[in-house]
Amino acid sequence: MSHSNDADYQGGAAAAAAEGVALRDKEHLAYYRVFRQVFPGGEVPGLPRHSSDPCPKCGYQLSTPTQTFCVTCGHYDPELRTRHEKKQA
Ligand SMILES: [Zn+2]
Repeated sequence: MSHSNDADYQGGAAAAAAEGVALRDKEHLAYYRVFRQVFPGGEVPGLPRHSSDPCPKCGYQLSTPTQTFCVTCGHYDPELRTRHEKKQA
C-alpha cells in the first residue's frame, strides 16, 4: 500500500462525496469508478435518487420498504428501517 494510493483514494473519496456518495474503502472506490463509467453522471435508468426512500450512503432508492441492505452501494445497517422512528427522541 503506497502513499500515492492513499492520495488517490482521498481524491476519489472526495469526488464521490461531492456526488453524494460515501465510500467505505479503496475496493469500494474501484467499484464506484466502474459504476460511473457504466452510468455517466450517475444516472441509472429506473433507479431514482433522493426520492421517497433513499439509501443514506449513496442516495439511490432502496428497493423494498423492509430493506436493510443497499443493493446499489452495499451499505448495510440493521437499523436502517427504524432510524426514522428514533429521530423524534
Ligand atoms: Zn446505497
